[in-house]
Amino acid sequence: MKIDTIVIHGSERRGEATGAIAFPIYQSSTFAHPGVGRSTGYDYTRSQNPTREHLEQKLAALECGFGALAFSSGMSAVDALVQLLKPGDHVVASDDLYGGTIRLFDHILAKNGVSATYINTGDLDAVKAALRPETALVFIETPTNPMMHITDIRAVADLLRGRNAILVADNTFLTPYLCRPIELGADIVIHSGTKYLGGHNDTLAGFIVTATQELDDKLRFIQKTTGAVLAPFDAFLIERGLKTLAVRMDKSSANAAAIAEWLKTQKKVTAVYFPGVSAMISFEVDAPETAVAVLERVKLIYYAESLGGVESLITYPLLQTHADVPEDQRNARGITDRLLRLSVGIENAEDLIEDLKNALL
Ligand SMILES: *Cc1c(COP(=O)(O)O)cnc(C)c1O
Repeated sequence: MKIDTIVIHGSERRGEATGAIAFPIYQSSTFAHPGVGRSTGYDYTRSQNPTREHLEQKLAALECGFGALAFSSGMSAVDALVQLLKPGDHVVASDDLYGGTIRLFDHILAKNGVSATYINTGDLDAVKAALRPETALVFIETPTNPMMHITDIRAVADLLRGRNAILVADNTFLTPYLCRPIELGADIVIHSGTKYLGGHNDTLAGFIVTATQELDDKLRFIQKTTGAVLAPFDAFLIERGLKTLAVRMDKSSANAAAIAEWLKTQKKVTAVYFPGVSAMISFEVDAPETAVAVLERVKLIYYAESLGGVESLITYPLLQTHADVPEDQRNARGITDRLLRLSVGIENAEDLIEDLKNALL
């Protein structure tokens, strides 16, 4: 089956006993047992819940993984992932990661005796040079946020062959509609389901998709033990949003391509970072005053954190997503007071351009 069918039906169309087309919300914290030593397959919602399970199976099918786990946010998924590590382990990560992931690595992981080295994972020699015998995890985001650097997932996976390091790709920006890292050799895919998968700026969610049963077993144990599971109602909302992933990605990507071309012709715009896929654009303007003016003048586009929803959002990485990244690192990576990040929604492209035009006057 093709991916635009799988987002709607999962890997197989599965009937509900009642004939319900929308998978029901099993709003129950616990499940009764038919007898001693017997189970319906469900015991307690922290361990599993039918609504969450239905969504997890769809995610695993979309990412071509063995299994998937749904969490209460993207960060709780990353937090569960790093529970695989032990003191003395080492992490290699993209130097342009999502700010929250850097915060978790630098403040929580470091405290637990795990060190991280940040490099441009698009540079294979840099990856090779950063690997140590104790490197247990290589964490990449492609494209990176907000500078849109690309990493060759297959090449990094080849580099790690024969080592004891797990390759993790945060696939939030591309989604399985545009990229399936497990097919390219990644061991684990992470998602902030809050973004494109949910797609409506109304629910937080996170996912871990695993390539093997071994990783799935370990992470399921961690999830059950630490408990940051996705609630049944939120699983329903993400499932509902996911059904239109393909059409939303097509429309928002086409909008983004048109807007990126238009931005390049604007005299106050000094650089445009658009990887040519998906619907995220970062752009640099001529002065910090212009950046502030754009944020305050947009009327259709919201000045708000987050991305990947039907509504277009513009953010100021300096003060929002990357506020906790030390200034020298921020500047070295181009995250300056002139950089703006636009998440293009599915409104009409001409209306969005008109809004940006008025804001850039
Ligand atoms: C938003 C985001 C996260 C964190 O997800 P939350 O759902 O906000 O906790 C992680 N990685 C990337 C790339 C993100 O954009």
